[in-house]
Amino acid sequence: MPQSENRSQLHFLAAVTIFLACLTGIDTWAADYDKAPEYSVPTGISIIHTGVLLAIPGETPDTRQSIVVQNGRIVEIRSGYIQASDIQAEGEVRIIDLSDKFVMPGFIDLHVHLSGQAGSSSKLDAVTMTDADTALTAQMYAQRTLLGGFTTVRDLGSRGDAIFALRDAIKAGKVAGPKILVCGDAITPTGGHADIHGFRQEVLDALPSTGVCDGADSCRAAVRRQVKRGADVIKVTATGGVLSETAAGTGQQFTDEELRAIADTAHALGRKVTAHAHEKAGIESALRAGFDSIEHAMWADKDTMKLFRETGAWLIPTVYPITAVGDTPEKMKQGPFRNMPPPIMAKLLRLGRQPKDMTRLAYNMDVKIALGTDSGVSPHGENANEFIEYVNIGMSEMEALMAGTVNAAEAGGIFDRVGSIEPGKAADIVALAESPLEDIAAVLRVRFIMRDGVIFMPTD
Ligand SMILES: [Zn+2]
Repeated sequence: MPQSENRSQLHFLAAVTIFLACLTGIDTWAADYDKAPEYSVPTGISIIHTGVLLAIPGETPDTRQSIVVQNGRIVEIRSGYIQASDIQAEGEVRIIDLSDKFVMPGFIDLHVHLSGQAGSSSKLDAVTMTDADTALTAQMYAQRTLLGGFTTVRDLGSRGDAIFALRDAIKAGKVAGPKILVCGDAITPTGGHADIHGFRQEVLDALPSTGVCDGADSCRAAVRRQVKRGADVIKVTATGGVLSETAAGTGQQFTDEELRAIADTAHALGRKVTAHAHEKAGIESALRAGFDSIEHAMWADKDTMKLFRETGAWLIPTVYPITAVGDTPEKMKQGPFRNMPPPIMAKLLRLGRQPKDMTRLAYNMDVKIALGTDSGVSPHGENANEFIEYVNIGMSEMEALMAGTVNAAEAGGIFDRVGSIEPGKAADIVALAESPLEDIAAVLRVRFIMRDGVIFMPTD
């Protein structure tokens, strides 16, 4: 077993032990966000002594700061290392020593699929896994994601009700994981990317999706159905996609009228709306329809980038998966997707280095970029590699860190709660062994994780 794997398993065991201690009331530091969680005992105060503190990515970091945390939230930040006697506190005060660490806000990933891992078993999983299986699997992936330093994620597509149950169980303090913004079923046309493919008709009939719609009225209803189920965000497959088992390409699949109806309905119901889109026409149609963000955008060109700028929409580039599965035909044929069915393999091979080239173009043209990985395509828990991809295409280390903190929070509509370490925000804090401003790969060496005031990885 490689040392890093060994270490992360030890961390995981330590985190689970601490988490169980929280549940049994031994530890009094527990979450308090949105609704008060079942297990919260909001009395403890933590004072975190930081080495370097990057409280707001994009601003200059400070050294030797103290972060005061109470009831799962950040109360204040003071210069120097204060002690319990320096604050007016009733009850226990815990000092957390991160004086030799780089401390920053918990990472945010706007594009994950927690309920599975794409690969040669995906097709069988679709017809063998019950909602209960999915819930337990998704919880395992949620833990891995949290232990990778991600304290908030957005799940952009999951069949059944498991993902809603997982989101609520994490919020209630029943199981460990990041906070999750959930879309439920992706909105897709009949036979579109998020409709299910590759089975006999009677099997397909037994696997209905609540997100399938055709025509503007039907699509308005599909959006309303997701919100009724409890969706926090609306995800739309505006174009074909790579991993659907169909040779229907990656071009526009919803009409302009359908996209407008979807965006207007989502906004009327107070939800952000984001489009999976690959080809230029589909991306631009979604941008013109008023979408808040575009996922992937693989074949966006200069004109598309100008439209991003005009509309103010965010790009969520999802670069790391192509590195994980192979960005050349040789690597692809030896990688985890080597046994994919022919229609999928043809689309995979066409991607090549395009995700990287497109992201470089977007960055050079000042398009707003927020971090998303499409984890579930790449392995869960490896999400932080996306930061490294952004530096590889030309971003500064600081700009890459902003993409996965302040930018992702703003793009996700949650900047009032997360994305920076500021009074009033959730105590979502990670510490790294070294400075990612000097070497971005430091994001892979997370040494402390607090989410909503609960420690999920203790410091070494
Ligand atoms: Zn996806």
